[in-house]
Amino acid sequence: CGIVGYIGDKKATPILIDGLSRLEYRGYDSAGIAVFKDDDIYVEKHEGRLKVLAENLKDKDLNGSIGIGHTRWATHGAPSDRNAHPHTNCSGNIAVIHNGIIENYMKLKEWLIEVNGNGFKSETDTEVIAHLIDYFYEGDLLDAVYKAVEKMEGAYAIAVICKDEPDKIVAVRKDSPLIVGLGKEEKFLASDIPAILKHTRDIFLIENDEVVLLTKEKVTIFNELKQPQAREVYKVTWDV
Ligand code: GLU
Repeated sequence: CGIVGYIGDKKATPILIDGLSRLEYRGYDSAGIAVFKDDDIYVEKHEGRLKVLAENLKDKDLNGSIGIGHTRWATHGAPSDRNAHPHTNCSGNIAVIHNGIIENYMKLKEWLIEVNGNGFKSETDTEVIAHLIDYFYEGDLLDAVYKAVEKMEGAYAIAVICKDEPDKIVAVRKDSPLIVGLGKEEKFLASDIPAILKHTRDIFLIENDEVVLLTKEKVTIFNELKQPQAREVYKVTWDV
């Protein structure tokens, strides 16, 4: 029920865990992260409190500076390690976190099993998104996300990373909160401002049906038709 993302030069893992801890008030039953590690995507996810995830990350040497983190409030599939986010496609080169519900996930899942075989590892609606993006992927993550979103019904905020494009995070907002934090040579993504307030007070508020492309230098916001959108920086003047 909470999303955090980081792209920059610092180690992503502690920033993600700290951000998730500030979203704890939203409630959750499991937590997980996906970060780049030696040109690969490394996923760690567990049922239970954030503490369980942090414990399991303790002796892993994750120096990746791009990653996404999630706290889950289960809607489809019981709380378990397997159903915790992030979810990946079969080859593991796409990782997705998701808040919300994909209403037509069963139909999409059946179709994906028909065209791709059954590589599903969880009972969640979310895993369908990873497989769907993979299905449409032809070398451009932003493009594949647009094509996937066209098929998805429901309410969601998602964040996606891809092994073959290790310099970006793509996120989408549809009826689920999403904000972006602007740092110098680093960018943040979250469900809510408190998650990233200790890193920056310069925020882009993302609107419904917008797609965001984050690199460490730049944030580009697109509308449904992939037209870039201008956005004023919202300066946070309050404290948590
Ligand atoms: N529907 C997804 C699931 O059950 C996401 C739930 C959430 O918003 O945390 O895994």
